[in-house]
Amino acid sequence: MDHVVYLALGSNLGNRLANLKNAISNLTPQMDVEEKSPVYETPPWGHDDQPAFLNQVVKVETYMQPEALLGHLKRLEVVLGRKPTFQNGPRVIDLDILFYDDLVLDSPPLVVPHPRLHQRAFVLVPLNDIASDLVHPVLNRPISELLLDVDRLNINEYKGK
Ligand code: ADP
Ligand code: MG
Repeated sequence: MDHVVYLALGSNLGNRLANLKNAISNLTPQMDVEEKSPVYETPPWGHDDQPAFLNQVVKVETYMQPEALLGHLKRLEVVLGRKPTFQNGPRVIDLDILFYDDLVLDSPPLVVPHPRLHQRAFVLVPLNDIASDLVHPVLNRPISELLLDVDRLNINEYKGK
């Protein structure tokens, strides 16, 4: 379990909170979950006419190599009920790799750090809760600074309903 990885989770279909919990409990045994951010409710991104998302970020440790980890997460999405839609469309669960140690990798299908994480308040807000001092290995700025450049107005902690 010697690689430190940050994952972003998102869900906007079905029982969203249960989907996040279910995903996290299915990360083991390949990953040790070290930290979990609070859950946030966030407006849909890309396509407006879909339900709001719940988003969360977790810190895990794993022995898996990056490509194997991506394949594992993609299979897990399907196991958890994700059906193919369009990019940024509604989904039961989305599992994205944000950082893998301080690796910089651009070999499709995998890009690390996640190429859009610094533009997304729904990633930066929960990430800042558990890793504010983490320095983005390409932008060379900590998460706390990246957060200053995005609009976090509609990102609210989710207390359940
Ligand atoms: P998105 O998360 O962008 O809404 P998908 O979850 O359908 O869309 O992912 C599309 C593709 O993005 C995946 O099949 C994967 O190959 C690719 N991808 C590239 N880099 C990453 C990353 N860091 N984490 C997760 N997926 C990635
Ligand atoms: Mg994804």
